[in-house]
Amino acid sequence: MKDLTILVPLLNEEEAIELFIQATRPVLDGLNLSYKYLFVDDGSTDKTLDIIKSYAAKEENIDYISLSRNFGKEAALLCGIKKAGTKAVIPMDIDLQDPPDLIPAFVEKWKEGYNMVLGVRKNRDSDSFLKRFFSSWFYKVHNFFARRPIPENTGDFRLLDENVAQAIRQINESTLFMKGLFNWTGFKTASVEYVRPERSAGQTKWSYWKLWNFALDGIFNASTIPLRLWTYFGAAAALLSFLYASFIVLKVLIFGKDAPGYASLAVLILFFGGVQLMSIGILGEYIGRIFSEVKHRPAYIIKEEKLND
Ligand code: UDP
Ligand code: MG
Repeated sequence: MKDLTILVPLLNEEEAIELFIQATRPVLDGLNLSYKYLFVDDGSTDKTLDIIKSYAAKEENIDYISLSRNFGKEAALLCGIKKAGTKAVIPMDIDLQDPPDLIPAFVEKWKEGYNMVLGVRKNRDSDSFLKRFFSSWFYKVHNFFARRPIPENTGDFRLLDENVAQAIRQINESTLFMKGLFNWTGFKTASVEYVRPERSAGQTKWSYWKLWNFALDGIFNASTIPLRLWTYFGAAAALLSFLYASFIVLKVLIFGKDAPGYASLAVLILFFGGVQLMSIGILGEYIGRIFSEVKHRPAYIIKEEKLND
């Protein structure tokens, strides 16, 4: 068994592959460990797969898996971890936003006995204002609801040892939020700080809409508390309406009949209509996820692969 897999999910990254291999190889060669690259092509439509294949044909320590279509980075990562077969796995983005210089620090912590070593971003300077704003809110909301809060400013860039990888291999969910799952496994965790640089080449594959949906997956996968909130909200509303009703009855008893209150009725109907729609929406979020889980479809389908060992 080799020591280390560098696991790289790719979607349309023809410009970034060579830069990535050039930047990582010297670092990996300097580690005194046996290692391999595992590229998971996530349904690219450009030359990505051809380039990966030509590398794999020349070099024994470059493996690849090609998925039948785009299943998303999370599915590609899960696939890679299930197939890696080494003592440790480091998932990395191809665009060099995960600095290769950090790998030796990861490995050092691993040798000290940590099962997982997180790359933690020192700051978010390389992100736009909007992305920083949403991500800080995401962590607040997620960690408010989640049973196991996730450490802020971490991504998928980390080292997982065999124990963590083994735990991840047992996962058969189809709505995936890998950061949450890594964290869910537990184990002894250390972290190393880094500054995230800009993308080396090509374009980001994440639109704001994709990020928003990803954040919802993260939150609704982590907790069922949003469902329970409505019980309390309903109880509070019922109590308030009871008090209000008693108030009206008393008022009529003491002061006689009042003019009919259309305005307050309209406000109440609108308010509770909105509240009910929102709570149905939350139910829908969970039912949708239950639906996709009970179908038991695999999270990805492999079209072809080349795996040594
Ligand atoms: N990626 C993928 N499948 C997708 C989207 C992205 O495999 O559906 C890969 C992408 O090729 C890259 C990594 O995931 O290696 C991170 O993507 P990106 O750099 O676009 O994300 P960002 O850094 O902008 O969050
Ligand atoms: Mg990137």
